[in-house]
This record gives sequence, structure tokens and C-alpha cells, in this order.
Amino acid sequence: MRKRQVLISGGAGFIGSHLCDYYIQRGYKVWCIDNLCTSSIENIKHLGNLSDFKFIQEDLITFKTSLLKHKFDMVFHLASPASPPDYFRLPLETLKVNSLGTEKMLEIAKMSEAKFLFSSTSEVYGDPTISPQPEIYWGNVNPVGPRSVYDEGKRYGEALVMAYHRKYRVNTRIIRIFNTYGERMRLNDGRVIPNFIAQILDSKPLTIYGDGKQTRSFCYVDDLIKGITKMIEVDYHLPVNLGNPDEFTILQLAEVIQKITGIKAQIEFLPPLEDDPKQRRPDISKAKELLHWEPKVSLEEGLTKTLNYFRSLVPPPQWNRKQKKGGCRNETGRIR
Ligand code: UDP
Repeated sequence: MRKRQVLISGGAGFIGSHLCDYYIQRGYKVWCIDNLCTSSIENIKHLGNLSDFKFIQEDLITFKTSLLKHKFDMVFHLASPASPPDYFRLPLETLKVNSLGTEKMLEIAKMSEAKFLFSSTSEVYGDPTISPQPEIYWGNVNPVGPRSVYDEGKRYGEALVMAYHRKYRVNTRIIRIFNTYGERMRLNDGRVIPNFIAQILDSKPLTIYGDGKQTRSFCYVDDLIKGITKMIEVDYHLPVNLGNPDEFTILQLAEVIQKITGIKAQIEFLPPLEDDPKQRRPDISKAKELLHWEPKVSLEEGLTKTLNYFRSLVPPPQWNRKQKKGGCRNETGRIR
């Protein structure tokens, strides 16, 4: 019997690599395309020798789809820089992978008559004026601010997906992922959870941008993967929020990290980031109703697992060093 084939762009990334694992474990043949721009070969090393796993190290923008001779059953488009420092230093790559890259993945899905899933983001809501954010909220986005390359890139991607669905009847889905964390995040990716963990393990102060009263809702990666894999199975084409509705201020997050590590850290307040959303919390009523899904892992539990992962990676003196370079990475700090 023919094995079911799955194509995952960004499959060497933090979330993408967990998705590769999920389908490999269930007997699928998994094709992963990734330029290792913000991801790591380490995330998929354990799959490397499997005949059912194929890794294509290519940039989606220049990749010739004619090289893919296979018909896919499912196509997931996850490739994109996703942490603010990454998309600040890779603005054009971010815009292209969410526009041209999305179009390329849609074309592949169209030719294969595959189910298609686009990973959008809570950033499409910008700095929301309502909370929690339901899918019907159109957002409050600065179209020319530093975050716009990501926010508008994803908004364009969503529009393109809907156009392919409406014009060509491609069997599409859109998920809006809220802040997700867990094993295989880069310790130096600049997002708040890896930053705090790296800082506390390195006996450095926890850096808080602004007054720390801004909120985020953090979803553990295993919960998210369950949501994504349920989403691809349902016949629903409008966007669906996937995230954990438990909302924390960044100051509260700093407290939880101190509690689980048992380390009392200094807090260093730094100037706020431009256009940093003040609040973010998903309304997951749609996901509950449609997918019978909701996150199960508490912040403390998920952070403990994540902490153990980071601890297992490298010996203490290297916790805060930069990782090996991948494809288009050029090293810069956080842009403020
Ligand atoms: N943040 C912070 N200190 C850090 C990193 C981030 O205070 O070292 C704040 C950031 O300003 C934002 C929140 O934490 O308000 C979440 O930031 P992150 O980069 O993780 O993701 P975002 O939700 O902004 O995409």
C-alpha cells in the first residue's frame, strides 16, 4: 500500500520538527524542506537515517517544485522566521517566505490535490484593542512598523490562502498560533522564554522590555501539535486560533521561571520595544467546538520540561553562547 506523504516547510524548525516526528511516528512518509535560516539540523538529526524521512535543504523561494515528483496528501507551510529578533534582521526573507513561499506551497498542494495548512500567527491581531482575541477580530496592526514584515506577511499569506481556496477550491486551513514554547526552541532566539531561561541559568538578570505588565499566553508545544494535527483533519477553511488562554504578565512569567529553577534573579528593566503588543490572549472557542481541543499542559509543567531540555543541551559555561550558523543567518542582537 502507498504510504501517505506529507510535505512540511520549516520542518527543521522548533514547531516543524515536532510535526515531522508526529507523522513519522504514525507511519507517514515525511518530506521536510528547510533552508536552516532560523532552524537547526539538530532538530531532525534523529530522523536522518529513516527511509521515510526526506530532508531537502533549500530556500523555498528559489526551490524548483518540478523536482518534487511525488503527490502529497498533506502540505504544511510552517517556514518563516517567527521570533521578533529573527524577523527584524531578516525582514525581506520574512515577507518573501510568507508571500512567494506561501504561493509555492499552495501550488504544490493544488497540483497534488492535497490538504493544505498555513501557519499564521496571533500577530495578525497586532496590538489588540479587545481581549481575548476571537478570529473575527480584524486586528490593530501598524502596516509600516518594525513588526509589519511579519504581521503583514502573515496577513497577506492568509489572504492568498483564502484566494486559492475560493478560486481553485484548494482544501486549505489557516491556524493562528499564539506564543508557543518547548523543546527545540533556540536558546538564543530572543523570545522571552528562552531569554529568561538562558539568563537565569547564566546568573544574569532577567531583561524585561518596558514595565513587564504586557501580557502573553504561552502554549506548550505538545498541545499545539495536537491542535495542528486535528485541524488538518477537519473541513473548515477560515482561520482558527490555537494557543493557551492562560494569560500572564511578563513579570509573572519571570516569577514562574524563578520558582521552577529555585533561583532568585535580578530584574533589569529595558526600554519597551516599538509596537510591542500590550496584551495577547486567544479566544479558543472555535478550536474547542471544531476540534474538541484545548491545551492541557500548565505553564509550570511545560516550563519545567523546557528547562530540562535546555539544561541537557550544553554545559553551563556555553548556555549563553550563540548557536552554529545556518543558511541565511547573520548574527545581530535584538533590534530595539
Ligand atoms: N520580552 C521581555 N524580555 C525579553 C524578551 C521579550 O520583556 O528578554 C517581552 C517582549 O517585549 C514581549 C513579550 O516579552 O512583550 C513576548 O516577547 P516574545 O519575543 O517572546 O514574543 P512576541 O509575543 O513579542 O512575539
